[in-house]
Amino acid sequence: MPVPLLDLTRQYQSLKIEIDAAVARVLAHSKFIMGPEVAAFEKEVSEKLGVAHAMGVASGSDALILALRAVGVGPGDEVIVPTFSFFATAGSVTHVGATPVFCDISKDDYNIDAALIEQKVTKKTKVIMPVHLFGQMPDMDKLRAVADAHHLAIVEDAAQAIGASYKGMTAGRWGKAGCFSFFPSKNLGAAGDGGMIISDDPGVADNVRMLRAHGAKPKYYHGIIGYNSRLDTIQAAILSVKLKHLDTWNEQRRAHADVYDKELAGVGDLILPKRTANAYHIYNQYTIATDRRDGLTAHLKGLGIGMEVYYPLPLHAQQCFAGLPGAGTHLPVAEKAAVSVVSIPIFPDLTQAEQAAVIDGIKAFFK
Ligand SMILES: *Cc1c(COP(=O)(O)O)cnc(C)c1O
Repeated sequence: MPVPLLDLTRQYQSLKIEIDAAVARVLAHSKFIMGPEVAAFEKEVSEKLGVAHAMGVASGSDALILALRAVGVGPGDEVIVPTFSFFATAGSVTHVGATPVFCDISKDDYNIDAALIEQKVTKKTKVIMPVHLFGQMPDMDKLRAVADAHHLAIVEDAAQAIGASYKGMTAGRWGKAGCFSFFPSKNLGAAGDGGMIISDDPGVADNVRMLRAHGAKPKYYHGIIGYNSRLDTIQAAILSVKLKHLDTWNEQRRAHADVYDKELAGVGDLILPKRTANAYHIYNQYTIATDRRDGLTAHLKGLGIGMEVYYPLPLHAQQCFAGLPGAGTHLPVAEKAAVSVVSIPIFPDLTQAEQAAVIDGIKAFFK
């Protein structure tokens, strides 16, 4: 049985009436930019997450750029980022004129290794940007201790982690600002691009609101140079419909993870994703690792089972960063992960039969 890595049509079919009505409502009033649905969705998110401010922006990548600018990062500054992440984590740092400093990860959760951060801190370091990779937060107590000891701000790349938490406190609220993505494959996905910044700091929130509208305050008066980066009204209307289901979807992903954990334990040399103590994992991805990764992916491809390697090349090894100081250094845990991980289907609507086919396919390879 072929199994897609992700099938978004099922989610749309299950919410079609509500989503179609939401889109029709926006078309009818035609307030496409910063229409009432944007403020409504921002309010829903801030209430749900218990955060003072939520600002919709055009994408998760823009959320990172605007958040860094809003907390005062600019040319000459350094931002410590995990080297094992989606490109935008580091690209955003470069876009604000600062320098990304790459840190290795923990082999347990693939997140930034807090024990290695201290040796990366210089006089120029301004921010630590953890990524809650695959939907799981790292040990935030350790991370915060390092940040506090060196008076560094935390800006969270929580693009994959809306609804995740650590010790009961939501992803995105642990630092000065938290960034979400509504890219369609994220746990809360729009019908296109979208993103959000949350913050409890009114100054940061003010800055973001200016930056997303070209730095204007009031309109047509520009104290700073900003961007055109708003969350579309149509996207906000769709996201409001979906937000009500986020907790259920996250629980469904966790239930699928429980099945994989049980069924794939001890199969071949597989390393299954570990659960960090005190972290509520929302499994944007279920990522396994094996020394026979390329054989396994070829085998699954032959069976029509969807999978994807997140990520095949760590950020410090990307060609575009070859000019950075520290280029050419080795970050062994991330380099090992890049050649051994593969993510398998875990979307909420995955059926029991499909999941069984994925499990059987993997077991057959290691027989
Ligand atoms: C998806 C993602 C982003 C970027 O989000 P977009 O909405 O696609 O711009 C940034 N960081 C991480 C870790 C991501 O997974």
